[in-house]
Amino acid sequence: MSEICNTCGLPKELCVCETIAKESQKIVVRLVKKKFGKMSTMIIGLNESEIDLRDLAKKLKNKFACGGTAKDGYVELQGDHLRDMKPELVKLGFSPDSIELKR
Ligand SMILES: [Zn+2]
Repeated sequence: MSEICNTCGLPKELCVCETIAKESQKIVVRLVKKKFGKMSTMIIGLNESEIDLRDLAKKLKNKFACGGTAKDGYVELQGDHLRDMKPELVKLGFSPDSIELKR
């Protein structure tokens, strides 16, 4: 039996709630300097109730072959992936207009 979406009541395969949510997100991608001069790439502004942050973090970690975590409303990836993050997020269904890069 397939899972039913709480928002629209459709089975998860047919549900487009997350797609719509992704298109209407306002996301900021920025670099943060960590201990020992290491950089982290943060994705901020994700709506946790609409986006599966852990799933997103997993996909991005695989893509960039780096470590990372999903926390309260943001995803943090080890290393500087600022340049490549936007096209990757677009590939995952986010709207290019909603992604802002900050250095
Ligand atoms: Zn739905």
